[in-house]
Amino acid sequence: MYDYDLLVVGSANADLVIGVERRPAAGETVLGSDLVVHPGGKGANQAVAAARLGARTALLARVGDDAHGRLLLDSQRRAGVDTVGVLVGGAPTGVALITVDPSGDNSIVVSPGANGRLAPRDVRAADSLLRSAAVVSAQLEIPLESVVEVVRNLAPGTRFVLNPSPPRPLPEEVLAACDPLIVNEHEARVIAGGELDGSPEDWAAALLALGPRSVVVTLGAEGALVASAEGTARVPSVRVDAVDTTGAGDAFTAALAWRLGLGESLVRAAAYAARVGASAVTRSGAQASFPTAEEVAAL
Ligand code: ATP
Repeated sequence: MYDYDLLVVGSANADLVIGVERRPAAGETVLGSDLVVHPGGKGANQAVAAARLGARTALLARVGDDAHGRLLLDSQRRAGVDTVGVLVGGAPTGVALITVDPSGDNSIVVSPGANGRLAPRDVRAADSLLRSAAVVSAQLEIPLESVVEVVRNLAPGTRFVLNPSPPRPLPEEVLAACDPLIVNEHEARVIAGGELDGSPEDWAAALLALGPRSVVVTLGAEGALVASAEGTARVPSVRVDAVDTTGAGDAFTAALAWRLGLGESLVRAAAYAARVGASAVTRSGAQASFPTAEEVAAL
């Protein structure tokens, strides 16, 4: 029996958001709205999304010994995530500086900070945590060497789920461990080396040929496509009035990883995850938009 349904290994950022009429040119200063600070980062988001659904969730991450780090720890704990694996110090907490203009377009500068210091030795030191989860998931907002170390330290029965965002070409060793590799179209293209023609079914086939045990391609309002040696299937989403798609991919990934750990098939887990993603787009924000299991059932 595992202590956790899901261990998320990944990033935790403070998102600092300011509304602006227009962006400053080089050397210029413009006035913006009041600052709003949100907890974010793909690792932190996915851990909160899973815990809110009821998954027993832990996070392996690194934050700075600063106010943003405390904000992130608080938001994880409030959602019910076990933060025993969150390391503190080594660099300032990762930050995303976001300006939003009146048309809703974002400009973002990311300082990885402590996320970039989550080192392979930190992963090795968390060996017992890695072995206490049914599913381990990761993204790529931490050093790739640390994701490689996660794969090398998985217990034999543990399932590994990777959402390669932001995307970059992946070593064979990592690809071979993914069950599934979860990508949107942009990520699929980068992982496949830039060449992707035809339909999402063709992309999934091209990705499967790179070695993962299974592939899930998310398709926004169209839902998702799952592919493995057993075949390929489309999983529709639920029709909703989309308010803000931020965090939909994180909600989907967290839900899918959790349901796989409960023993559901890839198709059934993806169908559930599509409902969770759909629910998340009906509210604005990332962590603030993630639904409870009751809200998913009511959708
Ligand atoms: P992001 O990077 O914006 O968080 P993503 O590109 O990784 O998202 P999407 O494909 O946009 O991922 O969304 C993930 C899942 O959420 C989809 O597979 C789908 O099930 C659901 N979803 C997203 N947008 C919508 C929508 N407009 N209506 C219904 N379901 C949606």
